[in-house]
Amino acid sequence: MELEVTSLKGVGPAVAAKLARLRITRVIDLLFHLPLRYQDRTHITPIAELISGSDVVVEGEIISSQIRYGRRRSLVVSIGDGSGTLLLRFFHFNRGLQLALSPGKNIRCFGSVRLTQSGFEMAHPEYQGISESRPEPLQSSLTPIYPATEGLNQKRLRQFAQAALSQLEAGLYVGELLPQSVLEKFALPSLTASLKTIHQPHPETDVEQLFGHKHPAQQRLIFEELLAHQIAIRQLRIEARNHPAPLIEPSIEVLNKFVQLLPFSLTGAQRRVIAEIESDLSNPIPMQRLVQGDVGSGKTVVAAAAALQAINAGLQCAVMAPTELLASQHFQSFSNWLEPLGITTVILTGRQGSRARRASLQQIADGSAQLVVGTHALFQKEVKFSQLGLSIIDEQHRFGVHQRLALLRKGGNEGERHHQLVMTATPIPRTLAMTAYADLDLSLIDELPLGRKSIKTVVLKEGRRDEVIERIQSACHEGRQSYWVCPLIEESEQLQCQAAELTYEQLRLQLPTLTVGLIHGRLKGEIKEQVMARFKSGDIDLLIATTVIEVGVDVPNATLMVIENSERLGLAQLHQLRGRVGRGTIQSHCLLLYKSPLGEDAKSRLEVMRESGDGFVIAQRDLEIRGPGELLGTRQTGLVSYRIADIMRDQQWLEQINPLADRFIQQWPENSSKLIDRWLGSDAEIYKSV
Ligand code: ADP
Ligand code: MG
Repeated sequence: MELEVTSLKGVGPAVAAKLARLRITRVIDLLFHLPLRYQDRTHITPIAELISGSDVVVEGEIISSQIRYGRRRSLVVSIGDGSGTLLLRFFHFNRGLQLALSPGKNIRCFGSVRLTQSGFEMAHPEYQGISESRPEPLQSSLTPIYPATEGLNQKRLRQFAQAALSQLEAGLYVGELLPQSVLEKFALPSLTASLKTIHQPHPETDVEQLFGHKHPAQQRLIFEELLAHQIAIRQLRIEARNHPAPLIEPSIEVLNKFVQLLPFSLTGAQRRVIAEIESDLSNPIPMQRLVQGDVGSGKTVVAAAAALQAINAGLQCAVMAPTELLASQHFQSFSNWLEPLGITTVILTGRQGSRARRASLQQIADGSAQLVVGTHALFQKEVKFSQLGLSIIDEQHRFGVHQRLALLRKGGNEGERHHQLVMTATPIPRTLAMTAYADLDLSLIDELPLGRKSIKTVVLKEGRRDEVIERIQSACHEGRQSYWVCPLIEESEQLQCQAAELTYEQLRLQLPTLTVGLIHGRLKGEIKEQVMARFKSGDIDLLIATTVIEVGVDVPNATLMVIENSERLGLAQLHQLRGRVGRGTIQSHCLLLYKSPLGEDAKSRLEVMRESGDGFVIAQRDLEIRGPGELLGTRQTGLVSYRIADIMRDQQWLEQINPLADRFIQQWPENSSKLIDRWLGSDAEIYKSV
């Protein structure tokens, strides 16, 4: 019997409900609700020994207390301990606080210290008055800080964790799920010992190790969590492969016909990846392949070749894109390439008129639509395929695993699966890819089409707009086209569109000899398509856009990309946007406009953009600047965020855990499912339901 949290003192139904929000329902869950970090309140630091950026306890006598009127009104209290002085700053204060902190009193405070122009300062410290006769005892061990929720503060959470620890000491059984041989091989401490150290670090615990997540107790849990996630994702793959998929015999003849009709010849990398896909399709096991290729490497045509093989075998193919705009672009490309070969292509999006939509649905259901291009609308209930053989997901990092799997459940006969191809331009380092996409085989398009020149990138202060306008003028007068992107303003789509509209009005006046177009997310689907078509045909010289054009838009004659407020965008997005130019053989340019002053991160991002055009290099730098959470997102891996592991910080484990995971599932199947249960809990459902 697992003990419920309500068996603990002080946990009634109301508290239990709050704990449930943290996924804590049993006493044992409290033990796996792990601290995010620790504070050291075990000793008093002399002011002379303060280090900027650290969290410390300081004691001293109040020397002065006064209200300062700077940018914000604040109460500034100076304390001294004989070794030096420290300023305490309070932005929220009242008369009561002022009195409590009057000169002559002794206080103990805890907070984060910063070195400022006026010396060491602590903003909003926790504090308590002390009288010399009765000093409060200091904490005897490091203080864990837990993920909290409204209505449950750190103090309560610490009490509950301590109560759970006492139960552990009194014999509460927590299953050790790592076999002895694994513990020994990787030199890991036991689970019980690790949990004790983590919730109540011994006063002698190595603080540096603990703060850096390098303590063996933490490493043990990190190991276990990484292993659990790996097992979950691998089981998904094993499970999927248990179902039959249609065997598609690739035809060299149709492929040759298709290739001959293309206005270019395929690169070696494209040919290699097409062959890899064909070999997957010719097996009665569902293909689960990820094609990675930098922006502009020509993934679409590879997808079309795959679609062609499925259709040639009498099956349907679905292509899913994350935006309406990209879906309609793909619809055009695929129709252009495949209709000459006698293939019927339809489009299905959420914003379609109901007549058009019904017609598409009908064709999808009766099988006359051989290729279907669409947005998220594709996996809605009403969409019924007659004989789906292949689904292709473009820009897969914009979808969640759930969505990929939802599409997988479409079509085919009961118990049967179809083949799936996913494509992404987000390159990630190999170990990370193996971890996040462990259920997928990987293909790489590591070669750009012949004759591509790297895009020249310049970073310019906003004030130099006149120069930019000149550049546009001359590019367009040479018959080239330009983009001008107005990126997000405060994350609001509405404001973003307004900004684009404003820029559009201004630039139209400033560039009277050019045809200027405008595209943003708030325009109707048809209007967007019309504008894109006019830009593609060369009718529009300069296109003002929001970030709607971030993915997929392909106009090779556009050679100049201007990005306003580029300091606000992340590297991945900048790289994608810049990738809208440099798609032909003519030298392209990218102008990144920024508003000063630039923050440190923004500065290094723009530097990376100026120096590199290589998606892999950029992704690597992105990882260093932002960490993997942002890059991969839980959206992308589809997994819950980790409780203690961090795949970037702990990547040294991945090389060892990835191969162990397969062996673990085979040798210890029961422990495998318990590990998933422990670390993923209800999040594991998305895997089980496939
Ligand atoms: P991405 O990988 O970013 O999706 P696209 O598939 O949109 O790239 O291709 C970018 C551009 O390059 C398109 O205009 C496409 O027609 C063109 N292209 C693709 N393959 C080749 C090739 N082998 N040679 C020349 N141009 C190509
Ligand atoms: Mg693409």
